Amino acid sequence: MRALIWMTTGIEPRQWAAVHRKHHKFSDAEGDPHVPYVHGIGQIQLLNYSYCRRETANPDTVARFTRDVADDGWHRLFSRTWLGMVLFAGFFVAAFGPLLGAIALAAHMLLYLFQNSSINGAAHWIGYQRFANSARNIWLLALLTAGEGLHNNHHEFPGSSRFAQRWWEIDPGWYTIAILRRLGLAQPAPSVAIGD
Ligand SMILES: [Zn+2]
Ligand SMILES: [Zn+2]
Repeated sequence: MRALIWMTTGIEPRQWAAVHRKHHKFSDAEGDPHVPYVHGIGQIQLLNYSYCRRETANPDTVARFTRDVADDGWHRLFSRTWLGMVLFAGFFVAAFGPLLGAIALAAHMLLYLFQNSSINGAAHWIGYQRFANSARNIWLLALLTAGEGLHNNHHEFPGSSRFAQRWWEIDPGWYTIAILRRLGLAQPAPSVAIGD
């Protein structure tokens, strides 16, 4: 899973976790790395990736928000983010040839950037709210983002891997985790205090 994140997003998983946990701690307030109300919805929709990158350059963020993540040695490989992207590009070219591979890679990158920024932008801007937090649920976006678009639910229960709260809310990430649990490949994680 970590290798997949590394190759498909160009982000070191621990850095991603740190920025995302900081976002949860300061949601839509001072200290949140990406706030549509402060930075502008257009900025976040278009430049979310650079806001995340800027935050990973802050050494305090990773140190403070991933204290519970053990350094098992893989971080050193995954911190070479360019290598992950090169490997992923190589996979596309090997699978589809240079032209189709380049088109598939470009489509993947655009879709990824759109989905990622829509969670931090649109899902903090439009959509329905079930709980009293600043995030929104966008049903359609949840279909594209493995459930993450149920963002208001997620902000209410950030430690839960299940994002759906109603039967009609579709949560593909939870279905995947439920299957992995049945196969004995996933266990509930102990809850930890983050960034205190
Ligand atoms: Zn959020
Ligand atoms: Zn989250």
